[in-house]
Amino acid sequence: MKERLQDVIRSRPLLGDGAMGTQLMLAGLEQGNCGEAWNLTHPERVLGIQRRYAEAGSDCILTNTFGGSRIMLNRHGNADRVVAINQAGVAIARDAFGGRPGYVIGDIGPFGGLMEPYGDFTEDQVRGAFEEQARVLVEAGADAILIETQTSLEELTLGIQAAKQAGAACIIGSMAYDVTLDGSTFRTMMGIDPERAARCMQEHGADIVALNCGTGMDMERARQAVSRYKRVSNLPVMAQPNAGQPKLVEMKVIYDETPQQMVRGVVPLLEAGVNILGACCGSSPDHIRAFRSAMDEYLTGSVARHENQVV
Ligand SMILES: [Zn+2]
Repeated sequence: MKERLQDVIRSRPLLGDGAMGTQLMLAGLEQGNCGEAWNLTHPERVLGIQRRYAEAGSDCILTNTFGGSRIMLNRHGNADRVVAINQAGVAIARDAFGGRPGYVIGDIGPFGGLMEPYGDFTEDQVRGAFEEQARVLVEAGADAILIETQTSLEELTLGIQAAKQAGAACIIGSMAYDVTLDGSTFRTMMGIDPERAARCMQEHGADIVALNCGTGMDMERARQAVSRYKRVSNLPVMAQPNAGQPKLVEMKVIYDETPQQMVRGVVPLLEAGVNILGACCGSSPDHIRAFRSAMDEYLTGSVARHENQVV
């Protein structure tokens, strides 16, 4: 039987993948269209992106199902395709590894609204949508469920509970932090800091605590978040920072941190104890390839250092 993701990363860090959204745009998806529907309409393009990540050295691939909950798909008139879109998402990600071992992480993004009393959605609707998506992803063979880009503990908790309900072998909770205006710290849009998030995730039974995306959260800020998680929780940590700051160029949002710039943050993150390192918006297979060689070099070096100490 395959070793669970949360167990394997306790002995060695694994490499995640890079952005999906910005890669789908490069492959021709128009802003505002439903990228998850491409699992059914353009599976070869989704596979092409994920295969490039696998070839760059990713050990874990996220399914293209960020907006694959019933609530999100309903906005594109695709609510009747929840099952098919999520099933295909798992199959394509698995296929990307081309038969070699790898972890398929079933991706669940925010439901994209506010719950009562601030918004129009009831807790039951959100819970139901998360449970449905998590169940399809688990039944289709996802090795883990990732509840990502979360900003509120209420929605995060619903997601973790849904993954648990679905029988996920591994549950990852991932928060999106924004650096504060004065630059002194970072917290989510809803005011949650990493310590509170980690405690909440641990209390509700997550197996891995994570951060992704956000504003101003570069490799160095991700390293700080990893350290803060590690101080209050003994769970493994996953980090997926963006390729720098979003910039508006000719009415398009771009992220322009190069692989060479971003890779400088890899060793500090490994030293901080990151257990899965990937990247979010703006990153590409080239970024992941650079991460792979930096990680391999570091891991080989640390084995050598360890052996020297033993001698
Ligand atoms: Zn992102």
